[in-house]
Amino acid sequence: EKASLDTIAHKNKLVVLAGPTAVGKGTVEAKLFESHPDIWLSVSATTRDPRPGEVDGVNYYFMTEEEFLAKEKRGEFLETALVHGMNHYGTPAQPVREHLAARIPSMLEIDVQGVHKVRARAAELGIDPIFVFLAPPSFEELEARLKGRGTETEEQQKRRLETAKHELELQSEFDVIIVNDEVERAAAKLWTVFEHAMGK
Ligand code: 5GP
Repeated sequence: EKASLDTIAHKNKLVVLAGPTAVGKGTVEAKLFESHPDIWLSVSATTRDPRPGEVDGVNYYFMTEEEFLAKEKRGEFLETALVHGMNHYGTPAQPVREHLAARIPSMLEIDVQGVHKVRARAAELGIDPIFVFLAPPSFEELEARLKGRGTETEEQQKRRLETAKHELELQSEFDVIIVNDEVERAAAKLWTVFEHAMGK
């Protein structure tokens, strides 16, 4: 298994995961890392407030808008996006370069706007991304999960569901679509993407 992971990284393959709010990206990723702890997940910068339990430097680099914009101006991000019309998110470029150079299989979890930016810059960045979309079984299921999570106000939920609707329309642009109907199954499918990248 170690050898196959090296092969993925050797090709500078970068798995890029996107999917609407509350679809369960975090849960699927956690399940994947349980069985494949060698995979590195990029830690993004954001200007949104931490949710209960989120740790700075682990879940995100939480920062002020001023800090974020200064970093963006210095070209420190591989891509950035204004998500749900209010918060900035960005992928720090240097750690991605370092992990790919060290031949560590790497993954980004970003929104659909970020996907467009990575796709446009892939050649320039010398990366070969595989774009994966994690989809909910249905829009109604997504709505129920978001409300059940209860970490956003009603206004924030409305905004997130509007973004989600738009993102679901764009899923055909992705290389792989995984329906998150069951966490273990979705994580196993995500692993097959890494395997596919090895040319198996
Ligand atoms: P959340 O606030 O729920 O953690 O994330 C909101 C959205 O922002 C999710 O779709 C998430 O994938 C996306 N996101 C997180 N980090 C980044 C990033 O660095 N760049 C972009 N473009 N989107 C991100």
